[in-house]
Amino acid sequence: MKSMIDSHIHLDHYTDEEIEEIISSSPTIQSYISVSYDLESAKRNLLLSEKYSIVKPAFGYHPEQSLPNEKELANLMTWIESNKEKMVAIGEVGLPYYLRMETADPSFQLHGYIELLEAFIILAKKWEMPIVLHAVYDDAPVVCDLLEKHSIDKAHFHWFKGDSKTIQRLKNNGYFISFTPDIVYEEEIQQIAKVFPIDQVMIETDGPWPFEGPFQGKSTHPKMMNESVGFISKIKKMPIQDVYLQLLDNTKSFYSL
Ligand SMILES: [Zn+2]
Repeated sequence: MKSMIDSHIHLDHYTDEEIEEIISSSPTIQSYISVSYDLESAKRNLLLSEKYSIVKPAFGYHPEQSLPNEKELANLMTWIESNKEKMVAIGEVGLPYYLRMETADPSFQLHGYIELLEAFIILAKKWEMPIVLHAVYDDAPVVCDLLEKHSIDKAHFHWFKGDSKTIQRLKNNGYFISFTPDIVYEEEIQQIAKVFPIDQVMIETDGPWPFEGPFQGKSTHPKMMNESVGFISKIKKMPIQDVYLQLLDNTKSFYSL
């Protein structure tokens, strides 16, 4: 058995037909953690989880976009609060690393993003829920500070990239990271996989995000995670079946599935 969980996918960004095709052609996928971008996205993820019981929704506000205005934020927070029994985690939340790089504006104000993230961290603590983070490179230590300030122990840094000091910090705090299919062709990610403990690792597609290397031109599908597992087993020098099992157990226990 090669059972897997896609620990981070934006299923709501696929069409209904694509979702039907993905789910019906993936008998080995036990669950999909489908993270949200904004309120509309959260509503669609909730509908998908009602249609397909293997879809487990997370609600949040993706950081790589403009901040919501006061009214939008109030609507989002009220909606999340009234649907919190149906979610498995807060997410996707974090800090806008790529947006900041793209705008190349030295006066880019991070403050509002940090404030919004902290509001979500406080909810995760209050509701005793895992939190799904988009926090790479220089942003990761900032996010670690906030998580430590609020004594968060269930944090998932999806598609993590960062320096060795931060890697050590995530490791020591018992935080989880997940690898996308780019582990098969990105040296930087392979280096992280070498040193990160296998019992704090998950796999994901971040679909429909497109990949390169052997996946160039292919639409992102959870079956690509088989290649990731193969690569992790090589890096960790572990039998592939043990890797499938370990990743599955990690994800089930992290998300209480
Ligand atoms: Zn994502």
